[in-house]
Amino acid sequence: MKIILLGPPGAGKGTQAKFISEEYSIPHISTGDIFRKNISEKTPLGVEAKKYLDNGQLVPDEVTINIVKDRLGKDDCKEGFLLDGFPRTVNQAEALDLFLNNKGQKIDTALLIDVPKELILERMTGRRVCPSCGASYHVKFNPTKVEGKCDVCHSDVIQRKDDTESTVKDRLDVYDEQTQPLIGYYKKQKALSIVDGTGEINEVFQRVKESLKSICK
Ligand code: ADP
Ligand code: ADP
Ligand code: ZN
Repeated sequence: MKIILLGPPGAGKGTQAKFISEEYSIPHISTGDIFRKNISEKTPLGVEAKKYLDNGQLVPDEVTINIVKDRLGKDDCKEGFLLDGFPRTVNQAEALDLFLNNKGQKIDTALLIDVPKELILERMTGRRVCPSCGASYHVKFNPTKVEGKCDVCHSDVIQRKDDTESTVKDRLDVYDEQTQPLIGYYKKQKALSIVDGTGEINEVFQRVKESLKSICK
């Protein structure tokens, strides 16, 4: 199964991705996680990417596209994959299509997690993440069992530097300008499915499963 998760920052892509990846045994590929890992390890890619992440801007396409191609070339992606946070521009989407086309493949669906703007700010400013395993929590909607500690690996959870109100607003503008057009792009390919992303996390996952059932056999 080859799935793309679409949706604004804070829609719940990362949260749903963890469930989907487990349920369907496909690797969860998050470009944001890849960049953050490189930033924390201070690799050359991390040093470059940090300038963009800190300001809520997109890392340039050529850098991002190459990283994803490399990742998709790994053995564990042979049976499928789940892309979370990529593509984010039409340019990236075209590069992905071309890359898969050359291998006689295509994505099964681009799944849009639809959440109204009014809910986004609260979701994002209350988000806490685990820097070790990438798990995502929310102080109100999805708290850790032990305060401040990741349920999965027990590391200290943190607030992302780009989850402050002003950077979130910039990221939403970037989404509107550069990522929103992908909805039309996949609709035109008849590859778009839309899931209501409001309500409890588990409720959303049930909808995701229903939607995937009808698309991917
Ligand atoms: P969120 O889950 O809140 O949408 P991500 O973790 O996906 O955020 O992304 C965090 C940041 O990483 C983005 O603001 C951007 O700077 C960078 N990034 C992630 N994916 C991409 C991409 N496909 N293209 C360019 N930049 C990206
Ligand atoms: P994205 O990867 O799309 O940026 P996340 O999965 O990190 O989004 O979710 C953003 C924040 O919203 C996190 O704090 C997460 O715990 C919370 N969240 C995710 N899904 C829901 C939901 N259905 N209801 C309330 N909060 C949610
Ligand atoms: Zn963890």
